[in-house]
Amino acid sequence: MGAKRQRIGVMGGTFDPIHHGHLVAASEVAAKFDLDEVVFVPTGQPWQKSGTNVSDSEHRYLMTVIATASNPRFTVSRVDVDREGPTYTIDTLRDLHRLRPNSELFFITGADAMAQIMSWKDVDELWSLAHFVGVTRPGHELNSMGRKDVSLLEVPAMAISSTDCRARVKNALPVWYLVPDGVVQYIAKHRLYRSASDSEKGNPEGA
Ligand code: ATP
Ligand code: MG
Repeated sequence: MGAKRQRIGVMGGTFDPIHHGHLVAASEVAAKFDLDEVVFVPTGQPWQKSGTNVSDSEHRYLMTVIATASNPRFTVSRVDVDREGPTYTIDTLRDLHRLRPNSELFFITGADAMAQIMSWKDVDELWSLAHFVGVTRPGHELNSMGRKDVSLLEVPAMAISSTDCRARVKNALPVWYLVPDGVVQYIAKHRLYRSASDSEKGNPEGA
């Protein structure tokens, strides 16, 4: 009782792999909204995105842990990874709300994801669970779609996507400096994002 409510950012994503666009967005929102913590929440399995398979959730979870480990305000939650079936943001927010009853949640999304959220059917319940913060992302237009309960924040432009990182690894192009060093090494160690024939041939340091 009487304790200050914690202000907690929630950064949901597939994180396949996590990259510096995610980390900069979280860091900027944390600074601007005076957050005590940002919880990164990798989505569960199975989740088909654009017809392609997503990496095993344990790989995505571990890369997220590696990428956030050095920041004392960043943490990673397994609520979506441990829940059966596809991830819906409403479930993520309900679970975090239950686990952190004394906190105020700030759900962080890039401009592309924000547009999708607005089209969901359970959108009204989302507003009761969290504030929404939309951040700019190169190539996507950011707007609050007329909602006054959505905050918009311009963050340094990071023209990085996980899709591009995966394509780079597949084509033997570097992902250094697009993703944290530990994530580059994790991708190489576990031979993620290679075509099946590459994995068999073996090319341990080729990230
Ligand atoms: P993919 O290409 O596989 O969709 P992604 O780069 O979009 O990957 P996600 O895991 O889908 O990454 O995104 C998680 C969240 O981070 C989303 O809200 C997304 O809009 C946001 N985000 C991703 N990349 C950036 C970026 N470069 N700048 C700002 N926000 C970003
Ligand atoms: Mg995406």
